[in-house]
Amino acid sequence: MPQRVICNGCRHVLYEGAELKPPDEIIHQYDGKCPNCGRKLSLLPIEVEVKPTK
Ligand SMILES: [Zn+2]
Repeated sequence: MPQRVICNGCRHVLYEGAELKPPDEIIHQYDGKCPNCGRKLSLLPIEVEVKPTK
């Protein structure tokens, strides 16, 4: 089950991978802001998509 975390502001994919990661860890990796649009990332509005594998 791949996990995808997308910036709420610009739809930039912050994390995509097979391993499930807690969103706060992903946000921490980016110093709390989106590398693409500079929008501040917060825990709750972050969109997490979990897609089933084929
Ligand atoms: Zn962004």
